[in-house]
Amino acid sequence: MFLHIDMDSFFASAEVIRHPELQGKPLVIGAPPKEGKGRGVVSTCSYEARKFGIHSAMPVSRAWVLCPHAIFLPPDTKYYQVVSQRIMKILISFGYPFSQVSIDEAYIDVSTLENYESAQNLAGEIKLSILNSEGLTCSIGIGPSMVTAKIASDLNKPDGLVIIRPETIIPILSPLPVRTVPGIGKKTCVILDGMGIKTIGDLMNTDVQKLTEKFGRFGARMSELSQGIDREAIRENESFRSVSREYTFEEDTNDKTLVINTLEILINELHNVIIAEKILFKTVTVKIRYTGFKTYTRSVTLNHPSQAIICIKENADKILADFIKKDKIRLVGIKLSNLLPATTRQTVLADFIF
Ligand SMILES: [Mg+2]
Repeated sequence: MFLHIDMDSFFASAEVIRHPELQGKPLVIGAPPKEGKGRGVVSTCSYEARKFGIHSAMPVSRAWVLCPHAIFLPPDTKYYQVVSQRIMKILISFGYPFSQVSIDEAYIDVSTLENYESAQNLAGEIKLSILNSEGLTCSIGIGPSMVTAKIASDLNKPDGLVIIRPETIIPILSPLPVRTVPGIGKKTCVILDGMGIKTIGDLMNTDVQKLTEKFGRFGARMSELSQGIDREAIRENESFRSVSREYTFEEDTNDKTLVINTLEILINELHNVIIAEKILFKTVTVKIRYTGFKTYTRSVTLNHPSQAIICIKENADKILADFIKKDKIRLVGIKLSNLLPATTRQTVLADFIF
């Protein structure tokens, strides 16, 4: 199970954050339009600009014709990079395997979650964290594979949250045009069109052999992607791996002392592991599952990597305090992530963790 997080009209929205007076105006980020004589293309535009038919990758001269009163700004990549790094940090702080795929897009592998409902809750939390700290909205797609999650995130932009479950892959994907499939570009679309393949449904129903004859190995991959199958896994940076321990109680409990003591045992075990492996951690995550399998995780990310058990305990206790309610608890877990070798110098750290 994967989440694909995609910021909404990222560059334009980031500009609005520092220039609030641009809020609600058609805004085009790209090459200078020079009164319609400009060369170059639109990089991103606000949703207000999209209403005029402007979209990314469109020649900026065309954008100017469509909406001459739009506000045109050159891209400030350095600034977007800074905002992006803060957003990625938020995503990492949730403690799941993470992979950034572009300045404003990332995948999170949530296969450890019980069900799509938990994934949906997590997606809601992520959206809220990003909105609260950056004032920006994103769209999140949830699916059984990376390709389905990516397609889902694009289905209800902006501020969308779409789930594609294994049983809804065919009904949701079938009517979509083939260019919706990541990796299928304009050229491929034209060839597919010539073969009578217009929708993902058409692609699903096309014999793989017919596709491989035309496209080679990419044909086989295309066929799999159209069925929502993606054999790619998240390629994690070394520093994003995690160590964790969890414990399921014999009987669901709301005995505060028992829960706290159990967590303490898990923390001690985990601390032994990081000492033995000579690793530092930056993120502490506590997981709680209540009766009925409702599962929650919450993380704290430290400003500096640490190896101190007190750091784990203090943060875990703080998180746990919010979790112990009248509902009975079935499982408690602790995870340390954003790991680094203890020998790594601080200067190298910046290369790994923003
Ligand atoms: Mg985006």
